[in-house]
Amino acid sequence: MSQDFDLFRISEEHGMLREAVRSLAEAKIAPFAAEVDEQGRFPQEALDALRGNDLHAVHVPEEYGGAGADALATVIVIEEVARVCASSSLIPAVNKLGSLPVQLSGSEELKAKYLGALARGEGMFSYCLSEPEAGSDAAGMKTRAVRDGDFWVLNGVKRWITNAGVSEFYTVMAVTDPEKRSKGISAFVVEKGDEGVSFGAPEKKLGIKGSPTREVYFDNVRIPADRMIGAEGTGFATAMKTLDHTRVTIAAQAIGIAQGALDYANGYVRERRQFGKAIAEFQGVQFMLADMAMKLEAARQLTYAAAAKSQRGDADLTFFGAAAKCFASDAAMEITTDAVQLLGGYGYTRDYPVERMMRDAKITQIYEGTNQVQRIVMARNLP
Ligand SMILES: Cc1cc2nc3c(=O)[nH]c(=O)nc-3n(C[C@H](O)[C@H](O)[C@H](O)COP(=O)(O)OP(=O)(O)OC[C@H]3O[C@@H](n4cnc5c(N)ncnc54)[C@H](O)[C@@H]3O)c2cc1C
Repeated sequence: MSQDFDLFRISEEHGMLREAVRSLAEAKIAPFAAEVDEQGRFPQEALDALRGNDLHAVHVPEEYGGAGADALATVIVIEEVARVCASSSLIPAVNKLGSLPVQLSGSEELKAKYLGALARGEGMFSYCLSEPEAGSDAAGMKTRAVRDGDFWVLNGVKRWITNAGVSEFYTVMAVTDPEKRSKGISAFVVEKGDEGVSFGAPEKKLGIKGSPTREVYFDNVRIPADRMIGAEGTGFATAMKTLDHTRVTIAAQAIGIAQGALDYANGYVRERRQFGKAIAEFQGVQFMLADMAMKLEAARQLTYAAAAKSQRGDADLTFFGAAAKCFASDAAMEITTDAVQLLGGYGYTRDYPVERMMRDAKITQIYEGTNQVQRIVMARNLP
C-alpha cells in the first residue's frame, strides 16, 4: 500500500481495497450481524472471514509479516466492516489499539514475536488501560507491577477491556513507581495463558453486543522483564500516543456505522409509500437525507485528513485524532437517530437494522476517551 496519499483523492489502490472489503463484508459478515447482536455472541464468522483474507490486523508492517497497510487503508477496512456490523469492526480496530504500543515503543524482539503472531492470526491483541476507578483520569490507575529479579509481578484489575478472553495478547499499563503518577506507569505484554490472568463476566451492553467487554484480573502474574514495552516509566506516554493514532480508527468505525444507516434509510424511503407516493418525494424527508449525507461526508473528510496525519506522524495529530473521533461519533449518533426516524415505527423495532446501528453508534462517543475528554485534548492542542 502506498505510503503517500493525496488528501484530495483516494488512490486507485485504496478504492480497490474498499470494493474488496465491501463485498467480503456484505457476503460474509452482514448475514450474521443481527444474530450476533441479538445473541450477544462473538462474531466468529467475521474473524474467520477477516483472517482468511489477511484483513484482521492490516496495520502490521510487512517486516513483521503483516499486510503493511497505511493508516488510510486501515480506516477503510474498519469503515467497511462497521458499515455492516460494528461489533465485527472491533476486530481490526482493537488489534491495532492493542498492538500499536508494541509497534511504537517495543524492542525488536517484542515486535518480531508479538506483531508476527498477530499478523499470522495466532491471536488477537487487547488494550488494558481503564480501571473501575480510573476511566477519564486514566493516570489514576492502581494496577501495580513490582520488579522481582528478572521478572515483573502484576496485580490489579482492568475494566471494560474489549475482546478480553478472546484475545491471546494484552498490552497492560501498570504503576511501577507510585510517586511519579503518569511518569511512574509502564507498559507490558501479558499473555492470556500467563498464570494468574483471569476474566470477569461479559458486560451487558446497550450496543456492540457482539464485542466481548470484560474485566481482566491480574493475580500475582509473573512475567519476564523483557516483556516491558519501552523503558520503565514510559507506558503512559506510549498509551496516549497510541490513542492519537487509534482515535482515527474509532472515527472510521463511526462513519462506517453512519453510512450503513444512511444507505438503509435511503433505500427504505424510496419503497415506503404514504399519502399515495413514496415518502422520498416529501421535501421534509429529502432535507433529512441531505443533512445526514452532508454531516457524514464532513466527518469522512476530517477522518481521512486525520489518517494522513497519523501516517505521516504530524505534530498536530493529537488535535486531529481527537477532532475526527469527536466529530465523527457525534455525527454518527445524529445520523443513526435520523435513520430510525425515517423508518417511523418500523425503525424502532429489531426487524430493521437501524435501531442496532443507533445503539452501536453511541459507544463511539464514549470509548477511547469520552467526547468531553476529546474536547479537553483539542483545547490543549489547538492548531
Ligand atoms: C464497550 C466499552 C469498551 C471499552 N473498551 C476499552 C478497552 O478495550 N480498553 C480500555 O482501556 N478501556 C476501554 N473502555 C473504557 C472507556 O475508554 C472508558 O469507559 C471511558 O474512557 C470513560 O471512562 P469511565 O467510563 O470511567 O467514565 P468517567 O471517567 O467516570 O466519566 C463519566 C462522565 O464524566 C465526564 N467527565 C469525566 N471527567 C471529565 C472532565 N475532566 N471534564 C468533563 N467531563 C468529564 C465524562 O465525559 C463522562 O460523561 C471501554 C468502554 C466501554 C463502555
